[in-house]
Order: sequence, then C-alpha cells, then structure tokens
Amino acid sequence: MPTYARLPVSFERGTGAWLYDQDGNPYLDALTGIAVCGLGHAHEGVQKVVAKQAGTLLHTSNLYEIDLQTSLAARLCEISGMDNVFFCNSGAEANEAAIKIARMYGHKLGIDNPIILVMRGAFHGRTLATLTATANRKIQAGFEPLVPGFVRTEFGDMDAVRATTKNTKNIVAVLVEPIQGEAGIHQPPTGYLRALRDHCEAHNWLLMLDEVQTGNARTGRYFAFQHERGLLPDVLTTAKGLGNGVPIGACLAAGKAAGMLGAGAHGSTFGGNLLACAAAHAVLDAIESGDLEARATALGKRIRSGIESALLGSNRIKEIRGLGLMIGVELAAETKGVVPAALERGLLINCIGDRVVRLLPALTMNDEEADELVARLADTLKAL
Ligand SMILES: *Cc1c(COP(=O)(O)O)cnc(C)c1O
Repeated sequence: MPTYARLPVSFERGTGAWLYDQDGNPYLDALTGIAVCGLGHAHEGVQKVVAKQAGTLLHTSNLYEIDLQTSLAARLCEISGMDNVFFCNSGAEANEAAIKIARMYGHKLGIDNPIILVMRGAFHGRTLATLTATANRKIQAGFEPLVPGFVRTEFGDMDAVRATTKNTKNIVAVLVEPIQGEAGIHQPPTGYLRALRDHCEAHNWLLMLDEVQTGNARTGRYFAFQHERGLLPDVLTTAKGLGNGVPIGACLAAGKAAGMLGAGAHGSTFGGNLLACAAAHAVLDAIESGDLEARATALGKRIRSGIESALLGSNRIKEIRGLGLMIGVELAAETKGVVPAALERGLLINCIGDRVVRLLPALTMNDEEADELVARLADTLKAL
C-alpha cells in the first residue's frame, strides 16, 4: 500500500556510514534508517552474531525460557536502573505496553477510567492507542474513533502540567519524550524531567519516558534521561537503535510499575526471540567497547559547530538544536526540495515539519565523515 511517499532510489548494500545504490553510487547516510542503524551498516559485530544465531536457533516463542532474552533484560536493567523488561518488535508496541501498564496501575488504584497525560508535539507510534497519544492530527485523521483515556498538555511547561492536573480527574501517568523527535528535535527546559518526576511522586502518577528515538546512546548517554543525575522513570520504552536493524522493542519498568503485567496480561509471539536478542546483545557490546556514548557527544558537537561555521552567517539557518547525534537544523525558509537536493549530492537526510532538517547519523562515523556530512549539507542548502 502506498503508505510512504518514497524517494526514487533503492540501496543494495551498505558499510558503516555509507549506502550504495544499484549502480554502485555512494551516499553518506545521515539518517541511518531513522535512528535505527546507530552502529552503521553491515556492522561486523552484529553481522557475525546474527549469522551465527540464524545457523543455531531463531525462534522458540515465549512459552519457553529464552536465556538470551533473560540476559539482555539483565543488561538493559543494569544500564537503566529499571527492574524488568517486556520485549516486543517496535516502538509503537513498546508504548502500547507502557499504556497497558498505566491502565492496569490505575485499575489497581480503583480508578475505572484512568487517564494518561501526553504532550503537544508528541509522537508515540501508529497503532490506534499510540496514534491517539501522538499529537499530529494528520496521523489521526480518518482513524476515529480515537482511543479514550488521554489528555494533552503543553510540552516542556510545568505550569501547563499543573493546570491540567487541576482540571482533570483520574490522571495516573504521564508519557513523554525526553527530546521530542518527530516534532522537530525539541528539548525541554533544563530541570523539566526532574520537575515532572517530583510532580508524579506528589500525585501518585507513573512517569513514562518514550526513548524509542533518544535511546541506545544516540544523545550521548545510553538513555537521554540519564543526562539528569539520579533521575529514574517508572516506565521506559525503546526500540529503533536497539537491534541496529533487527526489529526489537522493549518496555522497561521499575518499582510499582514493574509488577503490573503478570502471566497472561500481555504478550507477543515474536517479542524478544533469539535472533532479536542476539542482535541487541551485539549492539550493547559495541556501544560499551567503542565508548559510543562519548563518541555521540563528540560527533554531535563537531557536526553542530561545523554547520554553524558553514552556514550561520548565511541567513539560511534559524537554529541548530539537539543533543549528541540527534540534530535538528531549523531553516529560515521551508525545507521543500532539500531532501532531493541532498540526495543528488550523495547525502541522506530527512525533513520534519515545514522547516527542520533532521540528522541522525551513525555513532561509529569518523571525524572525516562527519566533516563530509557538514560539507554536503552546506552545499545543498547554499544551492537552494
Ligand atoms: C519512531 C518512534 C516511535 C514509533 O516506533 P515504531 O518502531 O515506528 O513503531 C515511537 N516513539 C518515538 C519517540 C519514535 O521516535
């Protein structure tokens, strides 16, 4: 079905930060399959483990113990400070699990119609519940009736949260991205997550962080919430970069939220199978051994300052936003034509909203590739 307006190019192979089309033309990939291939393409560690697993055992179902899943859960809990994990196959599914946890939590408090607070500008996925939680009308239009049980407030604004709290009964949880991705790479003010954490504590809500895009070392910490010292959410979702291209999602929970989904309460046939867990182990190995969190920070600074010195005086750019390798470049004019012009110059980027160029390059890029990315982007924008 034509659910995507695709660009007229098809890639045959990739290596590191580069993709090659059928004629062998190279493209520098500043998008990595939308924050998925954080280690770059055809990563040796992932490739070896996935090939070996395919020749050993791919799938058994969750009716049996899966040691690779248990050990992956332990590693993710160790990294995040969370207590347990539900594995699934995508970001939307991870958020569905979070939504179910919040509702179960509400019901256990004796609230029959629990409400989840969500944000303006939010993106949480395309299933019926997650598109309801998403703020974009284009994503919802035509799919009504939407799922009940959500109320929306301003992102990054504690006064708005307090006002909504006053006006709304039965809120049991808040679902929020630490940095809004699809809305145009928006960071809330410093201290926002901490204030939300305190507000949740005071009102007995669950703090649920959607780190589907910000997770897996992209912003310079394994999870973006870890930029705030000592802060812990109750529920945490991730997907995208966790398998470097092998589909896997995870919903992590801590404390009271960790006990909400018992046997039979939720499930997934594929979720956390041996192939997906093997790939995610290889991703964690590579992030650890390559110190890729620090690398994301350094590369992000290099790319942002490169763009600044190449373009900031040119009146083409309004603002450069982001953290680590999650970068938004807000243009002074509309982004129409930018993506095809970059493609012509062998650079893969995408645009969100009307004015923001989004960069989500590989954490394994070298400095020369980062500089090449900046040069090609500057060339593209100057030509328009
Ligand atoms: C991409 C994304 C999702 C949805 O993930 P899918 O794997 O496409 O279902 C959810 N939340 C955020 C923040 C995302 O960036």
